[in-house]
Amino acid sequence: MTPYLEIGGDYREVLPGVYLIELPLPFSIGLINVYLVRLADGCLLIDCGMDTEPCFAALERAVEGIGITWKDIRQILLTHVHPDHIGLAPKLLRLTGARLALHREDLEYLDELSAHHEYQIWSTDVLRAAGVAEEIIAQIGVASSEVGKSFHKLEPDVVLQGGERIPSAIGDLEVIWTPGHSPGHVCLYGRERRVLFAGDQMIERISPNIGWHPGHDPLAEYLASLDRLARLEIDLVLPAHGSPFSRHREWIRKTAEHHAERCARILAALDGRTKSAADLVPGLWERPLLPFHYRFAIFEILAHLEHLERQGRVSRVQKGGVVEWRAP
Ligand SMILES: [Zn+2]
Ligand SMILES: [Zn+2]
Repeated sequence: MTPYLEIGGDYREVLPGVYLIELPLPFSIGLINVYLVRLADGCLLIDCGMDTEPCFAALERAVEGIGITWKDIRQILLTHVHPDHIGLAPKLLRLTGARLALHREDLEYLDELSAHHEYQIWSTDVLRAAGVAEEIIAQIGVASSEVGKSFHKLEPDVVLQGGERIPSAIGDLEVIWTPGHSPGHVCLYGRERRVLFAGDQMIERISPNIGWHPGHDPLAEYLASLDRLARLEIDLVLPAHGSPFSRHREWIRKTAEHHAERCARILAALDGRTKSAADLVPGLWERPLLPFHYRFAIFEILAHLEHLERQGRVSRVQKGGVVEWRAP
């Protein structure tokens, strides 16, 4: 955890009737962008920020600055259920009376996450089987308990499937289901304005974390989602972190290459040796990782290993309580 930065609450109109609002986060990523979009009646808020005082205060300042009231927010759409996106949702739903929209897959995922105690036990089991040392598991537990407070059960008014349309000041916004970063991640596409509200699917200078999720091949899902987005005509990507950007096809190509390279490095590390996911971390991340980031790293390696296993390129070997991997 890094201390709160004295930032956030800045907002700007990125398209007529579309505001990007920066909210502060207690992570090294620093800020989340939430978006306010004018509708024929009131506004749509895309994502909510984290359940912290600085985050709420920053949003309140922006709402006042834009010149609307809480009650003008008629709809809230969550791109996915990570804590920086959903934390403030319950409070904002009470203040605004807005209708909440969320994809069905992330509604299920949220049920798992909000059963905080069970989720922690499950997560600890996964880390242990991945070969993570007990003292690091303990540090991850401490770092995660703060974040856990942002997970609340939610009852959406609209359970999204993908394909829905929301009429707005910049034309219809089309819900595009883009699983991978989370099982029910969605983007919103404004065909008329060639704009994409990308959530955490595309972030300009970062390769979004792709974490292992049981029963899924999140990397394959993520790459398939990117393929779908590559076919769209997009002039402006509005991400949930970092600056808006364009040239989405170039970004998609580089990101696909990054994951192919990761897979190749894992295969090279397993050449003639068996290793646990934890053994693979130092070869893939040169810098030392904080406990919170270390957890992301393990889950991302597990996602890559799952992907390679489904392609028949690695297999697992049980060694006591730890799973090791080899390239046959
Ligand atoms: Zn996320
Ligand atoms: Zn995020």
